[in-house]
Amino acid sequence: MNTEKSSGEIAEVMNESLEDFLDKITVAVHLVDRAGIIVYANKAELKLLGYQKEEYIGHNIKEFHVEENVIDNIFSKLIGQEDLENEESKLKCKDGSVIDVVINSNVHFEDHQFKHTRCFTRDITRLKKVENLLRLLNKAGEEISATLDTQEALDKITTFIVPHFADWFVVNELRDDGYAYLLKMAHTVPAQVTWAENYRRAHPISLNDPKVGSVGWVLRTGEGVLNPEITDKMIEEGAMDAEQAEILKALSIKSVMIVPMQIKGKINGVVSFISCNPLNKYDEYTLNFAKDFANRIALTLENARLYEEIKKDINEKIQADKQKDEFISIASHELKTPVTSLKGYTQILQMLFEEQKDSVASDMLSKMNKQIDKLTLLITEMLDITKIDNGQIAFNFSEFDFNELVKEIAAEMQNTTKTHKISVQLGKKIKIKADRNRTAQVMINLISNAIKYSPGQDNVLITVKSPDRQTVRFCVRDFGIGIPAEQQSKIFNRFYRVSGENKYTFPGVGLGLYISSEIIKRHCGTISFKSKEGAGSTFCFQLPGS
Ligand code: ADP
Repeated sequence: MNTEKSSGEIAEVMNESLEDFLDKITVAVHLVDRAGIIVYANKAELKLLGYQKEEYIGHNIKEFHVEENVIDNIFSKLIGQEDLENEESKLKCKDGSVIDVVINSNVHFEDHQFKHTRCFTRDITRLKKVENLLRLLNKAGEEISATLDTQEALDKITTFIVPHFADWFVVNELRDDGYAYLLKMAHTVPAQVTWAENYRRAHPISLNDPKVGSVGWVLRTGEGVLNPEITDKMIEEGAMDAEQAEILKALSIKSVMIVPMQIKGKINGVVSFISCNPLNKYDEYTLNFAKDFANRIALTLENARLYEEIKKDINEKIQADKQKDEFISIASHELKTPVTSLKGYTQILQMLFEEQKDSVASDMLSKMNKQIDKLTLLITEMLDITKIDNGQIAFNFSEFDFNELVKEIAAEMQNTTKTHKISVQLGKKIKIKADRNRTAQVMINLISNAIKYSPGQDNVLITVKSPDRQTVRFCVRDFGIGIPAEQQSKIFNRFYRVSGENKYTFPGVGLGLYISSEIIKRHCGTISFKSKEGAGSTFCFQLPGS
């Protein structure tokens, strides 16, 4: 049996039931004529917008679109015979609310005449809301995560929330004493909540608040609270007294959400979102968003707190370092004068005893003199280091014969030791322009280290070379204890001394090499070394010639 119907028969069947069919489907449909007048709307469309037939049909479609340019654009496309696919618009509902929709539409033409449009409208308000919330959450997350100051972070967070998401926004932070303290309160009209801010500052929230759904309860249980519709009765029950209830009623609160702030499951505060806009009532979607947002706030605040703690620690350390430096500077200045006069008197006494041929006393004074020299060196190093740190170290540049200086210093150092023989190998005569005293100081430091760190050995070799005409290279080699490979990188650091069993065997404070390297650097030279534990070290510096 042939069940296929002719097109005429289908049309007849459809015509009979078309209106009924359109009224039964859940998609909103309307037809608009060439003049923009709505000539038909199905039940789904009327239900979506909340109008009675007569309030909608017969009216111009423009009356129901929020943005005139959008409907004008839609209409001109349709006139141009263009099919509309998922065109977004905003429609006004009878209750004053606005919904987001997508429209699919085309025009029915008869004999090339525009008869009417066929528009299918889908409500995407919820989708749009979630999309906007996600966008807001992402943008806020991005911006606030980079903020490391608690107050600044809270201010930024507030700009994302008020007024887009809440008219009144409150953040309370839970402290160790079991109370939550106000961190931020913001309102679209701040003056309206000054009383609340004062009240909250004076009354932190107790974790033990027994009232289900209260801020304290949220803190204790970690459950979020959603009150989509706030009634006067709820306000009366929630307020502390009648006066507060009146003030709260005057704020025309419509909807409330209270959510915990949590980091890794630990509650550290609570956030309240309050809407006074009847068109912005909270629901399950917004509650989820609020929970997410509160957790981001918690993380941001935690980061800011950690950063502030670290900053405080660093500042304290800097302050302590400054005080230590000041102490070194003052102490070394104060020590210099008495030690200098001690040395003077010791030398005079030594001479007197030598004249009187009192060898016991003069030997003792000679030892005393050596100890004073050590003290003087330490004081000089401490003074140098404060000068270096303050950028006050001054150089007197002059031209001099480098080899002459080496010979002079080698001889001077030879006088200080009976255990080591200092040999010198000089290169070609070379003149350099540098601070002679400071260059000598570096040489003395390297030679005295070579002697000091090679007990039981008897040789120290000094070589001077000129790798090219513009450079002079001075090296001191010893055959002593050497420096362990893993400690070599820090050898020029301030106060650095090689650790290990030898640390306290050799006198010193770990400043000589630091000062030497600073002096060489200021001469645009380089300082370096090679060392092998147990086999000895070679320290070299290189300076530009004049
Ligand atoms: P210090 O007053 O301790 O000698 P320096 O700054 O001159 O201070 O030297 C830093 C550290 O480097 C020394 O404590 C020592 O451990 C190591 N050092 C320096 N020169 C030598 C060397 N020639 N041989 C072995 N170790 C050395």
